[in-house]
Amino acid sequence: APSDADAPTIFDKIINKEIPSNVVYEDDKVFAFRDINPQAPTHILIIPKVKDGLTGLSKAEKRHFEILGRLLYTAKLIAKQEGLDDGFRVVINDGPKGCQSVYHIHVHLLGGRQMNWPPG
Ligand code: 5GP
Repeated sequence: APSDADAPTIFDKIINKEIPSNVVYEDDKVFAFRDINPQAPTHILIIPKVKDGLTGLSKAEKRHFEILGRLLYTAKLIAKQEGLDDGFRVVINDGPKGCQSVYHIHVHLLGGRQMNWPPG
């Protein structure tokens, strides 16, 4: 039986294209698609194709160093592709207090409007 860390999420179905999504980037390790509930004119989720226990950033281990770097580097590539030349934001929500809802690590890339530092 799969452990909790290996339990599939909706993102597996998105990667496998069992659930359609608006794909903006894909390579052998990384997949990126538009958020279904965008919080900015550009709102993209960047995820590892293989979760490898990385349900969230709080579960990161040394074996994840490479994929963590690739996720951030891909955010930069997509920001450029999306024309976010005046700036953008990346966010990783973790756990209940971080408002994480899907337990397959994902980097949010937000842009196309002025961001405001969260006052809450
Ligand atoms: P979290 O709240 O875990 O940081 O982010 C999860 C994100 O996944 C949310 O912004 C939510 O809108 C997005 N999301 C959840 N289900 C789907 C889906 O089926 N398709 C797409 N494109 N985005 C989804």
